[in-house]
Amino acid sequence: MKMQINGKAVESYSGEFFDIINPATCELIDRVPKGTENDAAMAVEAASSAFSGWASTSPQQRAGILYRAAGIVRQRKDELSVLLTREQGKTLAEAKNEIAGFANVLEYYCGLASSFHGDFVQIPQNGYAFTVKKPLGVCAAIIPWNMPALIMAWKIGPALISGNTLVLKPASNTPLTNLTLASILSEAGLSAGVLNVVTGPGEVVGETLVKSPKVKKISFTGEVGTGKRIAELAAGRMKRVTLELGGSDPMLVCDDANLEDAVAGALRGRFYNCGQTCTAVKRLFVFESVAEELIKKLETGIRNLRLGNGLHEDIDMGPLNNRKQWEYIKQLVRDVEEKDEGRIITGGRVPEGSACSKGYFFEPTLITDVPVESRLLKEEVFGPVLPVVQVKDLEEAIEAANNSCYGLGASIWTKNIDRARIGFEQLNAGIIWLNQHLKVAPEVPFGGTKESGIGRENGPDALSEYLDLKTVMLKT
Ligand code: NAP
Repeated sequence: MKMQINGKAVESYSGEFFDIINPATCELIDRVPKGTENDAAMAVEAASSAFSGWASTSPQQRAGILYRAAGIVRQRKDELSVLLTREQGKTLAEAKNEIAGFANVLEYYCGLASSFHGDFVQIPQNGYAFTVKKPLGVCAAIIPWNMPALIMAWKIGPALISGNTLVLKPASNTPLTNLTLASILSEAGLSAGVLNVVTGPGEVVGETLVKSPKVKKISFTGEVGTGKRIAELAAGRMKRVTLELGGSDPMLVCDDANLEDAVAGALRGRFYNCGQTCTAVKRLFVFESVAEELIKKLETGIRNLRLGNGLHEDIDMGPLNNRKQWEYIKQLVRDVEEKDEGRIITGGRVPEGSACSKGYFFEPTLITDVPVESRLLKEEVFGPVLPVVQVKDLEEAIEAANNSCYGLGASIWTKNIDRARIGFEQLNAGIIWLNQHLKVAPEVPFGGTKESGIGRENGPDALSEYLDLKTVMLKT
């Protein structure tokens, strides 16, 4: 597949390509251009030239195009889902869910097309004022490999409906679905240059976009370290940023919780997308009095998870997306064993057997008796490993949950309204669930506190991240 710049499928200036590998088989799927600084600059120029035309269309006209695109995506859902599974590794059911999510998000922003209005303010004894909202200009979106389609929608939806033009930099492991979705937007009527996609290394293509004087805003999703680097570069140029970074979400299970529900929530919350979700359950804190029962049920549930190539039927969990992530998870679990930092109840190995003989597979893993200083609790474990810690009560659970540099999501599992209220008030996280985990919806803001990021995506507030507010004052 080629990059998309100014409405055309193009190769890189460098003439070089890089391989896209299926993580379930380690086979080559495709090759994409290895973009350079020149390619990124060319995409910014295209987006800049397209800006005034796109900004002068009405939000309703823009919505018409996004809505058509969402319709085409729904028609081509099966083919897109297969492509996403092949390059990302997730199961076909997860891929279908994500592709439907892409269409849902675009449609949600279409629904906000009539909400672009400023405010009127009466100034006491001094006339009145009104505010006008304007698009920013060229924006850059830099996205990761774990949910490439959904995260693309979280960025292009609000950016485009607000009248901005965009350069998207996909993750180097998963650009194929993004490129196909961008071509669907062109097919739906998006003018040349409004959305450009440049593939290539983050340090080259991503940084060129961040540094470009013509790029007014960067919306980034990825690791904390990369986010800090982007924030530094953007600060020196006084650019707006939205940073959606890592998480280490705690799940707090009280002694009055419905344990069946908690187990189902933990299995989905931890092992969905092979544990590679920013808001996955990455630390589970359970009251001592119900810990044994919960751990037994978790063990049974985890042993029943079927691991394999996501394209095959009856698979619950695919492989990790890439070798780096696979090596990280293998080493992490080895460290736990060597340093005696927990008891592996089930999993902990690279699986044997023909279904997983090639590819970046790792067994879904349950580890108990994890000490507070363990890497399992300190780092963002982006893979299928669930550490369980026993706590005395809610106070201890909240203290342990908040003992993290991350603050993306958190969930509390209880039937007691007072406990729920204490959880909502005291847990440091951008999103808190009661008796569920992982669920996100385009209608509500999403984002983190602490090192999990700056700014919010989704919900009507996401629009203000892509609009400039101008105040006009009149004297009477
Ligand atoms: P990553 O390594 O930070 O990469 C993310 C994107 O940034 C990729 O497109 C990457 O390009 C690019 N990049 C790398 N270095 C760059 C630089 N110096 N300047 C500009 N761009 C650069 O993250 P990842 O490993 O792909 O994704 C996993 C992380 O994303 C996890 O931490 C996860 O929690 C987080 N995440 C957060 C959210 C959220 O909403 N909070 C959602 C999903 C994922 P290359 O691919 O070419 O390196």
